[in-house]
Amino acid sequence: MKSQEIRSKFLKFFEDKKHTIVPSAPMVLKDDPTLMFVNSGMAPFKEYFLGNATPKSNRIADTQKCLRVSGKHNDLEEVGYDTYHHTLFEMLGNWSFGDYFKKEAIAWAWELLTEVYKIDKDILYVTVFEGDEEDGTPLDTEAYDIWKQYIAEDRILKGNKKDNFWEMGDQGPCGPCSEIHVDIRSAEEKAKVSGKELVNMDHPQVVEIWNLVFMQYNRKANGSLENLPNKHIDTGMGFERLCMVLQNVQSNYDTDVFTPIIREIETIADKDYGKNDKIDVAIRVISDHVRAVAFSIADGQLPSNTGAGYVIRRILRRAIRYGFTFLDQKEPFIYRLVDVLIKKMGEAFPELKEQRQLIENVIKEEEASFLRTLDQGLLLLDRIITHSNTKEISGNKVFELKDTYGFPEDLTDLILRENGFTYNHEEFDKKLKEQQERGKQASQLKSDDWTIVLEDDEQEFIGYDVTEANVKLTKYRKVTSKKDGEMYQLVFNLTPFYAEGGGQVGDKGYLEDASGDVVYIVDTKKENNVIIHFAKSLPKNVQGTFKATVDAKQRYRTECNHTATHLLHQALREILGTHVEQKGSAVHSKYLRFDFSHFSKLTVDELRDVENFVNARIEGKLPLQEQRNIPMQQAIDEGAMALFGEKYGDTVRTIKFGKSIELCGGTHVKNTADIWHFKIVSEGAVAAGIRRIEAITNDAVKDFYFENNRAYFEMKDLLNNAKEPVKALQNLQEENTNLKKQIEQLLKDKAKNLKGELKNELTEVNGITFLAKQVDLDAAGIKDLCFELGSQYDNLFLLFGAENDGKALLSCYISKELVAEKSLNAGQIVRELGKHIQGGGGGQPFFATAGGKNPSGIKDALEAVKSYIA
Ligand code: ATP
Ligand code: MG
Repeated sequence: MKSQEIRSKFLKFFEDKKHTIVPSAPMVLKDDPTLMFVNSGMAPFKEYFLGNATPKSNRIADTQKCLRVSGKHNDLEEVGYDTYHHTLFEMLGNWSFGDYFKKEAIAWAWELLTEVYKIDKDILYVTVFEGDEEDGTPLDTEAYDIWKQYIAEDRILKGNKKDNFWEMGDQGPCGPCSEIHVDIRSAEEKAKVSGKELVNMDHPQVVEIWNLVFMQYNRKANGSLENLPNKHIDTGMGFERLCMVLQNVQSNYDTDVFTPIIREIETIADKDYGKNDKIDVAIRVISDHVRAVAFSIADGQLPSNTGAGYVIRRILRRAIRYGFTFLDQKEPFIYRLVDVLIKKMGEAFPELKEQRQLIENVIKEEEASFLRTLDQGLLLLDRIITHSNTKEISGNKVFELKDTYGFPEDLTDLILRENGFTYNHEEFDKKLKEQQERGKQASQLKSDDWTIVLEDDEQEFIGYDVTEANVKLTKYRKVTSKKDGEMYQLVFNLTPFYAEGGGQVGDKGYLEDASGDVVYIVDTKKENNVIIHFAKSLPKNVQGTFKATVDAKQRYRTECNHTATHLLHQALREILGTHVEQKGSAVHSKYLRFDFSHFSKLTVDELRDVENFVNARIEGKLPLQEQRNIPMQQAIDEGAMALFGEKYGDTVRTIKFGKSIELCGGTHVKNTADIWHFKIVSEGAVAAGIRRIEAITNDAVKDFYFENNRAYFEMKDLLNNAKEPVKALQNLQEENTNLKKQIEQLLKDKAKNLKGELKNELTEVNGITFLAKQVDLDAAGIKDLCFELGSQYDNLFLLFGAENDGKALLSCYISKELVAEKSLNAGQIVRELGKHIQGGGGGQPFFATAGGKNPSGIKDALEAVKSYIA
């Protein structure tokens, strides 16, 4: 059975069982501070399990793109070495939100596996939760008794909390689970050891394929469990592992999900899969990682230096490194695999097809840039090896290579070993640990349980219409982090505060109760569909009614920038073409930032046209036309564009100004005239094929012009109020160039004269032609002088001191033959003499310089140098 058919059979099966089939949610999570990527099928549904939102159906099934490369579930280091863990994989799942429970979940899983997919019952094992004393949870007899109806009891195994109790995080919904395992070893192997012994023992052919989770508890901050009011089912089946079973192969990589990609790698690298362990690992790593990276880019997450973007960059770099080391790929090649990947998966995941060009460009550019890093790292490493006196390199150096230059530790290790070197692992590990600790401390967040003040079903956002309202606190909790210290998170029954989202920053403002007690709201964010207000303190009386007031000035500036962002988007598509797509946006009160796909730098004319286009619409006084809760299809028909990586409901909100129409949840000015004026302040590249414009509006433009004007008048003033300041400045520059030339000439003459004088001062000491003297020249002049004298005299030893701009300089020159004969070393000498001038330096054995901050020590240095030739 082909993988496509396996996927559709799953969805069809659950559709027949009255499940609503939904598409995979985007992989990058936007409003969950505990998680960067979807790491299991349930992550996009968290808000339903937490009771923060109501699902459109209480039975849902889907295939969800998951990424397990960071946080609690991190399989990255396994990937490539084993044959059944991936970074990106598909999780097939069926859900019940307060509807069916264990009986149906188990019956249907069994029916699907054994009757639809026709898996032989004799290769299946199942597990049930054995209970946990500490948590006070019992053996899951309910699940055990249901399984008994389908499978022999000696194939039902009991599992501990680690394997059979599923928790999505440290807090929140959780429950016991039943896993289904397959044993796909040969009959011969099975005769030797029973599969029972190998379940959950990391055997590559006895693996878990499906996990049925029975959500029935909520884990509180103090670690205790409480029963959930509604019980839910959450199941997850690894699609690639299922394909392995149904296609009768022994590895996920031998299924048709991977073989086309592997064949392509074999062709490009001219290496065969299945002949050499190291090459095989590399091929698996690359075929896996290209999927993770391509899907992330399609979902709008580009590789970058921070957060989720950095995780993606690291995955791609891991692939590049394996290609570089084990497949001899010194040129970008991973981007060439995107084609086969899209042929294979573009049908089920159309975002890949539509973003193809971008995916290829970004991967290629990242590859080229990391290969340059590797080249540079190789050079540095080569220098370290040639300059080392011992066979052990310091761990700090290896760490520096990794941290500053991005050169991976394992590659350093490999190259060192090839050269007969080692490095100090303890030192390296210590450095790495220190760095990780620092990162961990900075990001550590401790949250208390919510304190419920008022039972309330669904919170209402009224901030599109008002910026002030009377609100009641429904719940609050304390969160503590290294970064922000202690903060309170407040949730209201209704709120005028806009929560950060769609690029727009969250509102700030304050709360005031009848007694005049004021609490400032410093930020507003959404978490699992709940609007959370951040405050430094808690209101004195949490039961009261509060007047909640949004900082209207900041909101207004932000709105100007948000509306201008829409007009900018329209302008770019109009002027540059419809290939322009939004790739990121940040709307602040002070400025806006817009990233979009386009392949070349904008010309001055284009930038001016874009500005004029936007300003024409501001002058056109276009009124806001807002539609709330219209069907998605209607919005699309009216011309709105959905963004990749964005999660939309069935109904959406549209924002229209003239011909600009967007799907948008943000807040906007009532009329474009409110923006006053739009000005682009910068344009540049962020990644291959992605440009960034930063712009300002309203007051910020006034400040901008005011500042420029002030600078202009200051400049004019400095130019003695010249009538034509530009011309005056040009004259000044010309004059300056001429003067520089004259000075250069004068300095040359001076050096020539000096050379003549110095020749007379050379003395002979022990067969060495020697001079130590303070001179009045700059570093370049002294260097010239040294090499000129050096070309005229043998056995020359020079030390010049000079004072320039209050700093001391020492330059030492030693003829090459002296270096060899008397083992003198200029580098070492200046390093030692450096202490006289409170500085340091170095260079080569025949020429070296030192700089220091104490010119009065030059004399001592000139005296001290004599000891080297005595
Ligand atoms: P394992 O112990 O094999 O790592 P798990 O206990 O982490 O699995 P779950 O979190 O229960 O797995 O996920 C549900 C299913 O998703 C698993 O039964 C498996 O089929 C699949 N799965 C989990 N992790 C991966 C992965 N890294 N790559 C591919 N499939 C996976
Ligand atoms: Mg796992």
